[in-house]
Amino acid sequence: MKSFLILILNSFIIFNCFTQSNNSFQFPLNKNQQNFLSGTMGELRGDHFHMGIDIKTNGKIGVPIHASKSGYIERIRIGSRGYGRALYMNHNDGTKSVYAHLSRFNNSIENFIIKEQYKTQSFEITRYPEKNKFYFNKGELIGYSGNSGSSSGPHLHFEIRDSNDDVLDPLSYNFIEIKDTVNPTFEKIVFKTLDINSRINGGFGFYEYKLIKKKNKYYLDGKVSMVGNIGIAIYAYDRLDLMPNKNGIKKTEMFFNKIKLVSNNIEKLSYNETSKIVKYIDYNLYNLKRKQYIKLYQDDGNKMLVHRNNSHNGIVNINNDSTHFFQIYITDSYNNSSELSFYSNNKNDVVDNSKKIIFNNSNISVIDNVLELKLDVNHKDYVEILYDNNLIKNQFYTYKTKNSKVFLLDLIKILPKKIITEEKEINTQFISTIYPKLEKKIIHKDFELLSKQNILFDTLYLRFEKKYDSINYQETFSFSNKNDIANKAFNIKLKTLKKYDIEKSHVYSISQDDYYFIGGNWKNNSIEFKSKLLSDFTILTDTIAPEIKSIKITKDELRFKITDDLSGIKEYIGKINGNWILFNYDYKRDLIFSQKIEKEKPFMGNFELKIIDKAGNVNMLNFKL
Ligand SMILES: [Zn+2]
Repeated sequence: MKSFLILILNSFIIFNCFTQSNNSFQFPLNKNQQNFLSGTMGELRGDHFHMGIDIKTNGKIGVPIHASKSGYIERIRIGSRGYGRALYMNHNDGTKSVYAHLSRFNNSIENFIIKEQYKTQSFEITRYPEKNKFYFNKGELIGYSGNSGSSSGPHLHFEIRDSNDDVLDPLSYNFIEIKDTVNPTFEKIVFKTLDINSRINGGFGFYEYKLIKKKNKYYLDGKVSMVGNIGIAIYAYDRLDLMPNKNGIKKTEMFFNKIKLVSNNIEKLSYNETSKIVKYIDYNLYNLKRKQYIKLYQDDGNKMLVHRNNSHNGIVNINNDSTHFFQIYITDSYNNSSELSFYSNNKNDVVDNSKKIIFNNSNISVIDNVLELKLDVNHKDYVEILYDNNLIKNQFYTYKTKNSKVFLLDLIKILPKKIITEEKEINTQFISTIYPKLEKKIIHKDFELLSKQNILFDTLYLRFEKKYDSINYQETFSFSNKNDIANKAFNIKLKTLKKYDIEKSHVYSISQDDYYFIGGNWKNNSIEFKSKLLSDFTILTDTIAPEIKSIKITKDELRFKITDDLSGIKEYIGKINGNWILFNYDYKRDLIFSQKIEKEKPFMGNFELKIIDKAGNVNMLNFKL
């Protein structure tokens, strides 16, 4: 009670001090000291944009967090993933702020939310308290920093939003706590042919160059020639003062023969756009290198807010023999900027594939609407192609390099079923073409797939192969379309040949030899599920219950390690004398730990813990306290 009074007193003092400057934002922690960031807004993270700034807390949790502006708590959210413990403030002036990955809220919020968690008997919770129930003046303590949710180290994730919950760049609010005088870094550039007739260095595909810095400007490590429609992507990042972290680029501009073609400026991002990152970056390169190359051009189906100032979709078109001049500028939130410039000249007649990116070790790859087949240079000049309508046609090679003959097939016209070379018949695995604007249902003997209208970014050439591992009796449903991630999920049904224990068997996706639980519903001998990604799927049976290990058992705190071998933890329920106990779940450390509603009351009586995995296997622990 005493601390509560001090808090009220404090709030009066702070209120008096700050009434004059209430329109600006205050840095939410370590005010007036230099702070460091491990992430900027608009930074590219896997499958989403980073929506705020990540402020370092020196590896510690428990750093006091202050309201950055006066206002009320609009939302309180606790989740085991995502933002973990998060507070959302509304400042009554069209702006909002978000504080995520907290370890604890201020006492009044903490007491309120624990009661709500006990009421609903759930650790994960979202509450929208009535307006002004929790009102804070600028600078008042609202909670403590932490590492909760999907955070990979202690820090505060801080967002500034407008009234529509679109995020704004917090660094445009001139916080003196952040210093950035370092120019952004260019590392690599990739040129890509955008159609079957375009060429880079005489060839087709993706061509990558390292970028070399000389006297504060960047240049290509080699010469480039281009003909036709070309897309450019860059790998670049920004460092802030004194820290090694690679942060995002705010503004990217490209001039083609001194005319501005691209001007992407991430001033504002909308939550319903963030999944479009898969098309903002080059997803083929992301799958190959796990690095985000920013595309300076856009596909038809993927115009974003940041693309609104671009002409010709950022696509470079070259159709004459003259020399062309490119300048690319990258700029951070503090207006530090770097320049890359180079010429292209298409008078090259020899194909030079030394900069070409190889995506797989198969001799077939599909890039957009084109199938590329690479055969030995000594192969005869043509292959035979069997089409769906059982027509066979000779296809001559498109161009020759030192070691190979390259055949390019246009998939827009017709899908090849088999390619017959001198040595073998290659099954292309094409099933069907799916267009974004049309709903399509594919019924195949091994699967069914429903692609609803407008869930795709681009035309998709579905390729499929069923594999059966007779040693492990494992069925794999393999789609070769991992680069064609959709905007919304496909409905997929896998038709199985094997008998499964349907209570314990579910769909898992396979990625780099790891299994990821998806789930699914059984109907007869098939299982239905949804996925945005068409990759390798299999069905696995989990019959092993989760494990429980006691870490700490006292009358004040209960702590357990809970793990599951395959499907993963679904539920954890702890009770004492039949009364539910709140357990916080820290999935990164596989830990659950108790939180009492009445602090003074010791845990006493019959304790029961029940852990359930996603396949429904249960482990129970009982003891007397
Ligand atoms: Zn963050």
